[in-house]
Amino acid sequence: MEKCEECGVEVPKDDLYEAQGLKVCEDCKVKSASASSPSKPCGGEK
Ligand SMILES: [Zn+2]
Repeated sequence: MEKCEECGVEVPKDDLYEAQGLKVCEDCKVKSASASSPSKPCGGEK
């Protein structure tokens, strides 16, 4: 298992992605991707 450097969750190595130099889980990858695009379809969680 690998650890997400963003939120600290443990994920299988296959589910680890790289975003802005960090190894992150899919969740954080999606978040960081959507953070850089201002237009969100349904407002997001925040
Ligand atoms: Zn994460």
